Amino acid sequence: MPSSRREFLYGVTVLSGSVLFALDRTEPDLILYNGNFWTVNPRQPRAQAAAVSGDRFFAVGSNDEVLALAAGNARKIDLGGKTVLPGFIDAHSHPAEAGLSHLRMVDCDLRSIAEILKALRQRAATTPSGQWVLGFKYDDTKTSDGRPLSIKDLDEAVSDHPVFVEHRGGHTGWANSPALMLAKIDDKTSDPPGGKIDHDPATGKLTGRVREAAKDALVNAIPAHFTRDDRRQGVKLIAKMMTRTGVTSVTDALGTPDDLRAYQESRDSGQLSLRVYCHIYHSFMDQMLAAGIKTGFGDEWVRVGAQKMICDGSISERTARLSQPYIGRPDDFGILVTPEDQLYEQARKAHAAGWQLGTHANGDVGIDTTLRVYERLQKEMPKRDSRYRLEHCTVVNDSLIQRIKALGAIPTPFSTYAYYHGEKMKEYGADRVNHMFALRSFIDAGIRPTQASDYPPGPFEPMMALQSEVTRTDAKGNVWGAQQKITLEEAIRVGTLYGAYASYEENLKGSIEAGKVADLVVLGRDVFTEDPYNVVNIPVERTMVGGKWVWES
Ligand SMILES: [Zn+2]
Repeated sequence: MPSSRREFLYGVTVLSGSVLFALDRTEPDLILYNGNFWTVNPRQPRAQAAAVSGDRFFAVGSNDEVLALAAGNARKIDLGGKTVLPGFIDAHSHPAEAGLSHLRMVDCDLRSIAEILKALRQRAATTPSGQWVLGFKYDDTKTSDGRPLSIKDLDEAVSDHPVFVEHRGGHTGWANSPALMLAKIDDKTSDPPGGKIDHDPATGKLTGRVREAAKDALVNAIPAHFTRDDRRQGVKLIAKMMTRTGVTSVTDALGTPDDLRAYQESRDSGQLSLRVYCHIYHSFMDQMLAAGIKTGFGDEWVRVGAQKMICDGSISERTARLSQPYIGRPDDFGILVTPEDQLYEQARKAHAAGWQLGTHANGDVGIDTTLRVYERLQKEMPKRDSRYRLEHCTVVNDSLIQRIKALGAIPTPFSTYAYYHGEKMKEYGADRVNHMFALRSFIDAGIRPTQASDYPPGPFEPMMALQSEVTRTDAKGNVWGAQQKITLEEAIRVGTLYGAYASYEENLKGSIEAGKVADLVVLGRDVFTEDPYNVVNIPVERTMVGGKWVWES
C-alpha cells in the first residue's frame, strides 16, 4: 500500500475514533451510582458507579469520577448502596426446549404421585381423545411416595390418551400402555444399543420406564406439532423466567436448526431478553457444514456454539457411566450412550471444519472416553485455543483433572445439584461426591469451570448456584462433598467471566468494565454479608442486558 494511502487511512481512523470518543464523553445515556459494585475485573474489583452508553459500559469507578461524566441528558439512578454483580452466564441449559415444555406440557414438579396423576388427568380432560398427554420435570426422589411412577399409575389415571412423562433429568421417561403400543414396545422388545427398557424382575412385564436411547422410540412416536410462533413464544417465556433470577446469557446445550431460528426470530421481534450461545446437536451438522457455518457465527445476542455430542448417561437419573458401581446396586455401572469410535467419527468432521466441540460426559468413564477422543483429535489435527468442552464433567479424579488441564478443556459442572439434588447423592456415596462438581479441584488446577444449571434437570437461579457451590449443603442441611467448597468470590467468577470464556466471549462480557456489554444484576441484599446458607433467598431486584432493564421487581 502506498504510504500516502496508509497515512490517509490512519488519519481517518484517528479522526473517527476521537469524534466517537468525544460524543460518548458528553453523552452517556445512563449513570448508575451509589452502588456496591463487585466487577469481577481484577484490576478494579470494586466500584461505586458505572456509566452506560448504548449497550456498553462506558466507564466504571467512584461516584465522583463517573458522575462527572454526566451531561444534560444522562439518566441517573441512585442504587441506594445495593450490591451489583455482572449478569450471570448459565453455560449449559436447554432454554428453547424448556420454554416449549412450559407452554405445552404438564409440569410434574409435584410432591406426590397422586398430585401428578391428578394434573395429568386434568390435562387429558381438555385434550382431544387419542392425542398425547405429555409431562416433564417429574422427579422420582422428590415425591413423598418412596417409589417411582409406574405404568399401572398412568394407565389408571389416563387410559384413552397416550401419556409420556419425562424425568426432569430428561434421560428417562415413563409411558402408559397406549403410548408404549404406539412406540411399538412390548414385553419382548429387546433393549436398543445405549438404552434400557425396564421390566418388573418378578413378572417380566414392562414397568413403563424407558432409559436413555430406549426413550427415542417414544419421542419419535409423538407427532411434532410446534409452529414457529410456538417456538418464539417458548423462547420469550423462558428468557423472562431466567432473567428475573439474574441470568443474562445462556448456552443452549442441545440446539437444533429450529431452536436457532426461534432465537433469531425472538431477537428480531425484540422479545429475546438474554444472550444465547447455541450448541448444535451433531445429527444436524451436515446442514450447518453445507452452509459454511461454524462456531462463533452470529452476533452478541445469538451465536452458534459448539457441536454437541453425548457420551454417557445422567447424574440426576443415576445412569452416568461410572468405573465403580452405584451404591446399593453392585451390577449397575450406568450407561455409555455412544462408544468411543462412534464419538470420534461424530467429532472429527466438525473439528476439521473449525468447530468447538462439546460432549456430554458425566461419569468418570464417560469423561475418560471423551478426553481420549479430544486428545486424539488434537494430535491428528492440532487446533490453537480449542476450548474443548466437557459438558457436565461430573465425576473426576486426579488423572482426569491433569488431562483436562493439559488439553485446556472446559468443564461445565452442575451448579445447583449439591443444594437441590442432595438426596440423590446417596447413590454415589460420600467419597465419590467429594470428586463430583469438583470446582475446588478444577480451580486449584488452573482450569476455568462454568456455572451451569442444565435446566430443566437443575434449577437455574444463580443465587442457588452460589449457595450450593460455597456451602455444598442441601436444603435439609446435609453436606455433599465438603472438599469441593469454593469461596463466594470464586463462585461469582465461575458464574460470570468463566462462562464468557467458555464461549470465546471473555472480551465481550462476564465482568463490569468499560467496553464490555452492559449486563448486570442488582441484588436486594448484599451477597457478601448474607449468611451463606441463606443466599438462595436474596431477591434479584433488577437485571440489565445490553444497557436495558429486562427485569425490575
Ligand atoms: Zn444438558
